[in-house]
Amino acid sequence: MASIPHITVLGSLNMDLVAYVPHRPLPGETLTADRFATSPGGKGANQAVASKLAISQGAKLSRPRPSSSGGATTTSSSPTAHVSMVGSVGSDAHGAQLRANLTSYGVDVSGVVDAPSGTGTGVAMIIVDKPTGENRIVLSPGANHAVQPGQGQDAEEWVLRRLRVDDVPTDAPTNYEEGVTAHSVLPDMLIMQLEIPLQTVLVALAAARKKGVEVLLNPAPASPLPEEAYVGLAHLVVNETEAAILGGLGVGNANALAGDEAALERVSRGFLARGVRNVVITLGGKGVYYMSSAGGLSAEEVNVDKKGLVPAEKAKVVDTTAAGDTFVGRYALEAAVARKKGEVFDIEKAVREANRAAAKTVERPGAQDSIPWRDELE
Ligand code: ADP
Repeated sequence: MASIPHITVLGSLNMDLVAYVPHRPLPGETLTADRFATSPGGKGANQAVASKLAISQGAKLSRPRPSSSGGATTTSSSPTAHVSMVGSVGSDAHGAQLRANLTSYGVDVSGVVDAPSGTGTGVAMIIVDKPTGENRIVLSPGANHAVQPGQGQDAEEWVLRRLRVDDVPTDAPTNYEEGVTAHSVLPDMLIMQLEIPLQTVLVALAAARKKGVEVLLNPAPASPLPEEAYVGLAHLVVNETEAAILGGLGVGNANALAGDEAALERVSRGFLARGVRNVVITLGGKGVYYMSSAGGLSAEEVNVDKKGLVPAEKAKVVDTTAAGDTFVGRYALEAAVARKKGEVFDIEKAVREANRAAAKTVERPGAQDSIPWRDELE
């Protein structure tokens, strides 16, 4: 594995419980759903699957899963990576299902631990109003909130233990309590979102900075971050709403960003000035805006290397769930491969590849079930 990058996602796993209803239920109304489905989700787990499937082949259309033992296959010419998920589930049926689903896609789940007993797996209850396609979501974080050190534990040490992986891909679970093997290494790329305790994310950011681990932060759902979170951050991937909130425009002004390249540029420059190297703002059906720094920046003078607006690919939209997560996973793989090879990161190429993958995701229902395999994009 020494020559292939290792991507670790520290984040959430949820079971999505989706009811498709003929109209929005009124207060006090009991409504019979037309259809109900459970679907593996959670931003963290979705992004892990997206990174892994970006390198893995499934047969076109039928999307069969790889055998449970070996994960997905790759060809020698395709980029490849080892992908690990670090998080927490309850010791219940949903937790077992989420682990099994990730494993079937070839994601290493030895870092997915059981939450203390009595804490259930995270659940997203989603009601989809069929006539409009509009959804309403109630999230119960459950075990995702248990992704934090216990009382009296050293937080940095706790995080670093969970991020370390064996340098040889293996199905054998890592025993975190007994420490790690001599072969253990830190990942080449750490991906995080904000569906686990913010304090854990901040500790991991600081630890990664100290140890030279490249980080992609997808601060979703948006929550104010301390200024040090941006310092030295390799990749910040946000949607318009998150960009507006974190960029200081306010949630009501997200629409102002979308049609306006000058506003996108202003907000992106703001993130570079705060210390981010690469900023990507996803714009739903309008595409993506990106900007990278040429370094040597100060808060007063931002040195822009590359910037641009990439329009969305044409897609027949069925369900946009996990579009942003697909984008993050695909983009992260490009960045991790470039870093491992010591090549200059081509942000425009990464954005175009990710934009193509995310457009496929919106054409299918579900979260992890809708993420495309590499050969579906060829
Ligand atoms: P999020 O789901 O995190 O809010 P976006 O809605 O911005 O993220 O979508 C993420 C990416 O998914 C977009 O930048 C684009 O690449 C792709 N995408 C989303 N909606 C569409 C669409 N209607 N057509 C084509 N691509 C889309």
